[in-house]
Amino acid sequence: MRNKALHFGLILLSISCSITKEENVGKSIITNWQGDKQSAISITYDDGTINQFTVARPIMNKLGLPGTFYIVTGKVEESAKGKFIGRPKEEIIQETASVKTNADNFFERASLIAYTGMKDAVQYNFDAHVLFDAGKTTEAYEVIDEAYQQVRNSKLSKVDNMVFDNNPEDTTTWEQYKLYTTEGHEIGSHTVTHSGLSVLDEANLLFELEQSKSDIEKFLGKKYTFSMDCGFSPRSDRVRDYVHQVYPALRSHMLEPYIDELDDLDERDPGKSSKEYVKWQRNPLTDVSMEVMKSWVDTSIAHDNIWLVLVFHGVDGIGWEPRTGADLEAYFSYIKEKQDQVWVATFADATKYVRERKNAKVGSTLKDDVIVVNFSSDLDPEVYDVPVTVKTYVPGTWRSATLTKKQDDQLTLTIQKDALGSYVLYSVLPGEAEMVLSKKV
Ligand SMILES: [Zn+2]
Repeated sequence: MRNKALHFGLILLSISCSITKEENVGKSIITNWQGDKQSAISITYDDGTINQFTVARPIMNKLGLPGTFYIVTGKVEESAKGKFIGRPKEEIIQETASVKTNADNFFERASLIAYTGMKDAVQYNFDAHVLFDAGKTTEAYEVIDEAYQQVRNSKLSKVDNMVFDNNPEDTTTWEQYKLYTTEGHEIGSHTVTHSGLSVLDEANLLFELEQSKSDIEKFLGKKYTFSMDCGFSPRSDRVRDYVHQVYPALRSHMLEPYIDELDDLDERDPGKSSKEYVKWQRNPLTDVSMEVMKSWVDTSIAHDNIWLVLVFHGVDGIGWEPRTGADLEAYFSYIKEKQDQVWVATFADATKYVRERKNAKVGSTLKDDVIVVNFSSDLDPEVYDVPVTVKTYVPGTWRSATLTKKQDDQLTLTIQKDALGSYVLYSVLPGEAEMVLSKKV
């Protein structure tokens, strides 16, 4: 009995398969990730500390993996340094003696604090930022009051330069950054001074965003002004709104309703999301085990919609929460081993792919063993320049296919098979309109 039931089941299965196949011939879709991979991984670094470039970068180059490096532009020679924009600083400091910090003066005072030449200025800016971000406004005001009491009690040194966390070791030049982009890496803004943006007023906040953007454009080109991230991960909507006015993409916060964002503090299971894509940000801090780091990759591969965004900071003792070069080598080698299932892409490229896929319309018609594929996209092909992968089902009788984009632009494609039938994969760029697939004779 059991055998009969099994046999009957197999017949049903084969009938349903052949029906599905017929229905699918000539149909085209854009795959979730480039190359029809199961997941995407973006390897990103913050703060532009030197070992990211002298230790981590060579490992990535050896394995052929691109990375994204968010740099503090004010640290780089030849670019604009941080500065306070606003009323004369003495006037503001004097007012702090008689008027307590409140909602009206908080942003101005918090913007200025880093430029008062006081020893703990950066720490005060950071503390105020964290408290304010956490909704503890009164405590944030108190921190600023305390900071200015210190300022008034001490003799001001003449400091116009920003007092950001600056390692004397961080000597990377624009020329070197330019070289790194030619190796396939993305260099993006991490603001001018790494200030806590949540407590800056509009003028100073925009300066951090716009000045770093214009220096990157000047020294590296417009391509590298696509994605950015801010220091100290601000969770304020106000900061995010400003960033989205200046940059097309913010690593820690996307606007797309079809992307579920799980940030580093979010412990939800990314496999349980009901959204089309899951952006899963994980921070491999010093104490995260290699086993856990590898499990992030495995979890991403077990689904087809997870974009694992790794956020590294320090490397080999320099920078916050450093990982060793040996750890990075072991981890990146593991990712490399899985490259059949994983698309390793810069943050900008993965963002562009997802947007291109969602924006594009692809349709195809089958007639007399020829499939005409029409592709259209509203996105600017100058900016959105990442090829998307189109999957078109072809008749089961085809052994090989020819893709014709323009008259003399022909490519032979291998036929692959899945549960729905025979198909081919090929790359299409926004701006391309019509392609023809035919049986290779
Ligand atoms: Zn940072």
